[in-house]
Amino acid sequence: MNFLEERIAKDGIVKEGNVLKVDGFLNHQMDIELFNSMGEEFKKRFAGKPINKILTIEASGIGIACVAAIHFGVPVVFAKKSKSINIEGDVYIAEVESFTHKCKNQVIVSKKFIGKDDHVLIIDDFLANGCALQGLISIVNQAGGTVEGIGIAVEKGFQVGGHLIRNLGYHLESLAIVDAMDASTGKITFREQ
Ligand code: 5GP
Repeated sequence: MNFLEERIAKDGIVKEGNVLKVDGFLNHQMDIELFNSMGEEFKKRFAGKPINKILTIEASGIGIACVAAIHFGVPVVFAKKSKSINIEGDVYIAEVESFTHKCKNQVIVSKKFIGKDDHVLIIDDFLANGCALQGLISIVNQAGGTVEGIGIAVEKGFQVGGHLIRNLGYHLESLAIVDAMDASTGKITFREQ
């Protein structure tokens, strides 16, 4: 097991409904040493790519993206969730259905912050059905930029997102892939990587 898998096995809690709770170290209380190791690992896995910007989505992608950004020496842009349909200003918009909250949000990014010359690494905490990622990819495409890669902390390999995004041809790297989890026993099975 790698460092993230070990931490998930130790502190992750399997909830009903295919939800893995990692709020003690990843998306509520945040273990910054762990984030630093994740940033280092992303830097290794995307070595040689001309990444000049990291894009993530609020809220729980932001911490991971910011620490990773130190390793890449690039700025972070985060897509803002907005319930309003009447969005003002010059923004890219994508529709994202939330896996955990079961609602649809529009996410927006100002046109000032992503453009055709950008080579973007997309980062998020979880990959489940791939909606959040498809929204972020759509924003980079609208901007005419290039998606150089996608870095995920925890992919739930038993949901469709990973398959879908890899089939689209993107370089997707997930630091931990959960192939199965059982809420009654708490057992988590990781994919060999
Ligand atoms: P997707 O759009 O791929 O279906 O879901 C990804 C988003 O849903 C992530 O941004 C993450 O915030 C949230 N998410 C999906 N599955 C889980 C989960 O098992 N646990 C937690 N904590 N968040 C999840």
